[in-house]
Amino acid sequence: MSGFEERLESVKERIDAACARAGRSSDEINLVAVSKTRLPQEVSEAAACGVIYFGENKVQEAEQKIPMCPGNISWHLVGHLQSNKVRRAVQLFDMIHSADSLKVLRAINSGCEAVGKNIKVMLEVNVSGELSKFGVIPDQVERTLEESSDLSRVEVVGLMTMPPFREDPEEVRPWFQKLARLRGEMQAAGYGLDELSMGMSNDFDVAIEEGATWIRIGTLLFGARK
Ligand SMILES: *Cc1c(COP(=O)(O)O)cnc(C)c1O
Repeated sequence: MSGFEERLESVKERIDAACARAGRSSDEINLVAVSKTRLPQEVSEAAACGVIYFGENKVQEAEQKIPMCPGNISWHLVGHLQSNKVRRAVQLFDMIHSADSLKVLRAINSGCEAVGKNIKVMLEVNVSGELSKFGVIPDQVERTLEESSDLSRVEVVGLMTMPPFREDPEEVRPWFQKLARLRGEMQAAGYGLDELSMGMSNDFDVAIEEGATWIRIGTLLFGARK
């Protein structure tokens, strides 16, 4: 087994274990391999091991990398999107996890109209209220969903969050619970938010226990970033 394959197997075992603890099926969990800073060869190796979803956080880096990678990959944007890069982003990516304001949602819709495409997105929520974090504050989520509901080319399929880093993942659990609770409230209000994108290398087990359907893993799969 290659180094990547071994690391992938160990992540999959932890996914299975977290699902077992939570009484969930592993089929509910989608793994995004976050390939930012990684070379096309590393992406190709990962794809050869059966990884389907890859995440990038910068449009420019993705634009250079994607043409050098296998064609059967589904690319996901996981980082903040600047207005002037929206049109390029909607052409490159199959899903945007990090739609972090009404303004960006509207820009994504316009970008989709320009290139003739529909796209699935997740609304990023700033659950911790940290000023350094992107995302809609919890109080504004319902309003944002309401005001974006008439965007014909954008389908908001879930909520995403990136809580502050903590050495001990148990300290992150309350923020995952908060996002899951918010999703439940929005579903009760009639929004069909099936997806929860939460959990990274350091805390994905806890995120799965709290209902994650998409986990975004970089370091554990590819090794530490320089
Ligand atoms: C880098 C990144 C990840 C992956 O982080 P790791 O700790 O390396 O697993 C996940 N989500 C987002 C938004 C990121 O920018």
